[in-house]
Amino acid sequence: MHSVSRYGAWLLIVTLVAMPVSAGNAVASVDDTARETGTVPAHFMAGAADPGVYLVKFTGSPDTSRVDTYLREQGILLERDYREVGVYRIRISPRADGERALEQLLRLPEVEYVEPDYPLRIALEPGGGIPLPADALFGSQWALHNTGQLGGIPDADIDAPEAWEHAAALSPVVVAVIDTGIDPTHPDLIHRLWTNPDEIPANGRDDDHNGYVDDMHGINTITGSGDPLDDHGHGTHCAGIIAAEGNNGVGIAGVGEDVRIMAVKFLDDSGSGSTSDAIEAINYAVAEKKKGSPVRVISASWGNLFYSRSLYKAIFTARSHDILFVAAAGNYGLLNDVQPFYPASYPQDNIIAVAATDDTDRLAPFSSYGTRTVDLAAPGVSILSTVPGGDYAMYTGTSMAAPHVAGVAALLFGEQPDASFLHVKKRILSGVDRIPSLGPKVASGGRLNALGALEAP
Ligand code: CA
Ligand code: CA
Ligand code: CA
Repeated sequence: MHSVSRYGAWLLIVTLVAMPVSAGNAVASVDDTARETGTVPAHFMAGAADPGVYLVKFTGSPDTSRVDTYLREQGILLERDYREVGVYRIRISPRADGERALEQLLRLPEVEYVEPDYPLRIALEPGGGIPLPADALFGSQWALHNTGQLGGIPDADIDAPEAWEHAAALSPVVVAVIDTGIDPTHPDLIHRLWTNPDEIPANGRDDDHNGYVDDMHGINTITGSGDPLDDHGHGTHCAGIIAAEGNNGVGIAGVGEDVRIMAVKFLDDSGSGSTSDAIEAINYAVAEKKKGSPVRVISASWGNLFYSRSLYKAIFTARSHDILFVAAAGNYGLLNDVQPFYPASYPQDNIIAVAATDDTDRLAPFSSYGTRTVDLAAPGVSILSTVPGGDYAMYTGTSMAAPHVAGVAALLFGEQPDASFLHVKKRILSGVDRIPSLGPKVASGGRLNALGALEAP
């Protein structure tokens, strides 16, 4: 088993080294080719990772000083240590013979596997982002309350106002939005930010000794700083869907009530990020839960087509701490049962994979699906939410569907703070509105309904 997995990793690396494809080109080409043929081109699976950066898993507790010395001799730098997952990020010096260095590394008995540090991408449809005036308000939020305002079918929505009526006194719930960051000064989000209780703001010190200076509302794992400012817009949009302040007279209302958003930035201003930075983001949310913050949900509106054992392990760590992981099913319009999209398709029971529907309750044409690997659908077309600069915009994608589910999960955890992730997941899935056309598309055969979830046992 040991040698098989090392051989598997080696095969992957050979392919990768032999076919250097730039991430940008590969991502651009997969959308069109995949939709036309229903398959993903081989070059996409082979390429699209930084050829100098890998994740290494050691068996047991390696003698790190011995390993470090050995690696330096091969021109390999141990860059970061993801201790919770037992994984290290390594960088091969551009001056070293990369292929030979990897070969030497795989010969070490301490090495369990090596895999590329795969890039991850937001699940947003291009051409979205129609700017709207800040006073467009609740009337445009068809996903929460559909009156046919955009030409759709009345009540093809998640029954949010009905759910808010129904919800009893709620305990605070923290949702970690692992994304492009957040605009912390947005008027609809400013009162919805999680605050690190052990950190003193703006004193230039890491008061709680968690490795991040002044991390009041989250972190940026690209820079390692305590400032998750959103330079893209995607993260702020997802955060608003979950938690925008309702009944404050401005903008929109989020699905959850009294939710706090932990902003964990790992995606850059183009919406891309690395697997290692995603792992660090998940580890941060888990670590803050261990310190005492009620982090019950991670919202993940991104992914790729690569199976990463390291990312899998990180999500398993979240599971061990009773955190539900809500993931976008992806925008390739593919059957995920055959062509998985990760992290949505990892076989872990704390993951809920979410497809996207429009305001007529039809599966969006771009949305991936699968009755074995996609749990339910939720609104994801022309969704109005917050964007940086105090503005609002309509975005489209399974990226927008997942946060609706994260918001409903927060409502359920607020009502039942001691509920397990499994119980909340079960209530969400049994509370869906069953839609005949979704029967052959998603496991539950339905679209999210907040009231249905609250009324489910
Ligand atoms: Ca800190
Ligand atoms: Ca501080
Ligand atoms: Ca508002």
